[in-house]
Amino acid sequence: MLSVDEARQRVVDSVQPLEPADVVVGDAQGLVLALDLVAPHSLPRFDNSAMDGYALQAVDIAGAGDGTQIELEVVAEVKAGAPGDDVTVASGAAARIMTGAPLPPGADTVVPVEETEERDGRVLVAAAVPKGRHVRPAGDDVTAGEVIVRAGTELGPGEMALIASMGLSPVPARRGPKVAVMVTGDELVAPEATPAPGQIRDSNSVALRALVRESGGEPVPTGYVEDTEAAVVEALQRAAETSELVVSSGGVSVGRYDFVKPAVEKLGYIDLWRVAMQPGKPVVLGAIGDTPFLGLPGNPVSIHIGFEQFVRPAIRKMRGCSSLIRPTITAVLTEAITKPPGRLHFVRVRLAHNSAGWRATPTGPQGSHIQSSLIHCHGVARFAIEETELAAGSEVTVEVWRLPESSEG
Ligand code: AMP
Ligand code: MG
Repeated sequence: MLSVDEARQRVVDSVQPLEPADVVVGDAQGLVLALDLVAPHSLPRFDNSAMDGYALQAVDIAGAGDGTQIELEVVAEVKAGAPGDDVTVASGAAARIMTGAPLPPGADTVVPVEETEERDGRVLVAAAVPKGRHVRPAGDDVTAGEVIVRAGTELGPGEMALIASMGLSPVPARRGPKVAVMVTGDELVAPEATPAPGQIRDSNSVALRALVRESGGEPVPTGYVEDTEAAVVEALQRAAETSELVVSSGGVSVGRYDFVKPAVEKLGYIDLWRVAMQPGKPVVLGAIGDTPFLGLPGNPVSIHIGFEQFVRPAIRKMRGCSSLIRPTITAVLTEAITKPPGRLHFVRVRLAHNSAGWRATPTGPQGSHIQSSLIHCHGVARFAIEETELAAGSEVTVEVWRLPESSEG
């Protein structure tokens, strides 16, 4: 049996980043930057005012305070957007200035309007302030030549805004792969249908498409596939033509109607592993023509765990993400758990945080068919291969899928 880490490495090695394209920054949300971005200039580009007020020389008002007011002549007004270089603020003078307007030559300090009084073309300042107060110097934020966003970063509002400010739009970025989701099983009917005796509603394609989206991929459904080799071959071929990665659920066990393995074998190559994990032991890696293929077992919890361990890292590699796996935290287990040795168990847990740190509580029964174990689930605690018992109060490593919605409890 392979370890989860070995299996994940093989999966990740079998896929390659997609071709990047130049994308206007406003449309780049959720895309992944393909190259390091270097600042072509500093930011701010020019010294400017942080307040609406008066630009002046700090030395001129050094004597203000304790009832002494200093009076300066208002010689100009500088609005945001004005070049600001046509005015000079000499000693004894001040310029009315707006937030974001360039600091005029000669001035070194801004006094906010609230701390002044203007009368008959003169401004009264009641208190001294240190030189440079309320001035945002050029380069305060970014220095020309520094790397502002690294390749492999998923672009969110903050990154997008900085890229816009630096004039680096369009940016080279990668989208997520089109991922065909194929579910197999004669027992399946659509979620909206009423199952006949022996049938069940398909939940895996709903979950897998959501997981694909959550990982930054674009799901492509393939419809329901009967448990015959011909139907599976046909569906896989179609899936491979319309996608960049094919993921299937079901039909990879040793049942008589498990046709995914022979079908993939016919269309490309296949590598079947037993991975030392629970749930989700059988995993199929292969290719249909040039399209990589990952087959997960059909149990509803197994597809979640298998997706998290193998498919999500593969999708992230295709997107060019610099980090492929979920962050982990250390949490204190609130209940004892047991298992047989031999496989790594992924125990679904709820997380809570207080001043003592993180606590993890198993979500209830952990069978691979227990879909309710995924409700209010924040991630999985790793229950190591050789371990058989973890007492309440033990520390566990939790792969975090999402954070709790509140810090209470
Ligand atoms: P299999 O891997 O095909 O042997 O399926 C394992 C178990 O998962 C069986 O109980 C199936 O009925 C169930 N199953 C397979 N596919 C789905 C699906 N799309 N939605 C919900 N349950 C499924
Ligand atoms: Mg099946």
